[in-house]
Amino acid sequence: MLKTLTGLLAGASVPASALATAPFPLKKTAAEWRQIVSPAAYRVLFEHGTEPPGSSPLDGEKRPGAFVCAACNLPLFSAAHKYDSGTGWPSFWQPLPDAVGTSTDFKLIFPRTEYHCARCGGHQGHVFNDGPRPTGKRYCNNGVALAFVPEGAELPALRV
Ligand SMILES: [Zn+2]
Repeated sequence: MLKTLTGLLAGASVPASALATAPFPLKKTAAEWRQIVSPAAYRVLFEHGTEPPGSSPLDGEKRPGAFVCAACNLPLFSAAHKYDSGTGWPSFWQPLPDAVGTSTDFKLIFPRTEYHCARCGGHQGHVFNDGPRPTGKRYCNNGVALAFVPEGAELPALRV
């Protein structure tokens, strides 16, 4: 079955409340994830690391399409909601419906809102309140935690 971003946006969705809290629908051990994703992606996704700014080619990706979780392939963002924040990280003003969950982390002195893939729990980035209209949100994402699928291309099957 061909799944496209358009179909996804039009389709029924799982309530966010059902996904935002652990346990996540997709559970794998650390060893299993290490077989699937690159060491750099693992550090971000499952150890809450942050890639160096400017290090991801996805920061400059301007084609229409979808950005999927590098771990489980769940579509998280549409290119239609991407903008150049000037930070050196791929930035979006809104995620796809029910695609991410949030939690508060205190890794810096001040609390920050961390967000993660709603399906596998993989850490993606942090959300800030200095984004553009209409949401005013800036989803500051690690590019290594995403994969880009150009519009018209088939979305990868969800990893199981
Ligand atoms: Zn995921």
